[in-house]
Amino acid sequence: MIEPLAEEYRDIETRRVGESDLSDRNCVRCGDRHDRLEVVAFWQPILDEDDGFAYRWWAPCPTTGDPILMRDLKEPRPDGAD
Ligand SMILES: [Zn+2]
Repeated sequence: MIEPLAEEYRDIETRRVGESDLSDRNCVRCGDRHDRLEVVAFWQPILDEDDGFAYRWWAPCPTTGDPILMRDLKEPRPDGAD
């Protein structure tokens, strides 16, 4: 469990962080490529129990509407390894 953002960010409208270009890879939800995704920060980030990294953002796939989970692989590794 990761601490949620401050209470003031509970409303989704306060967590819209802008557009992201994922046209350099295939969408994990539909397999197409999207160059404009509306990215939203999770109020409560999702911890990946396997490697300790957190998914901190998501964007709806424009084709299916399913959420594409995003994380920052430049974050320091939680276990201290490189
Ligand atoms: Zn998609």
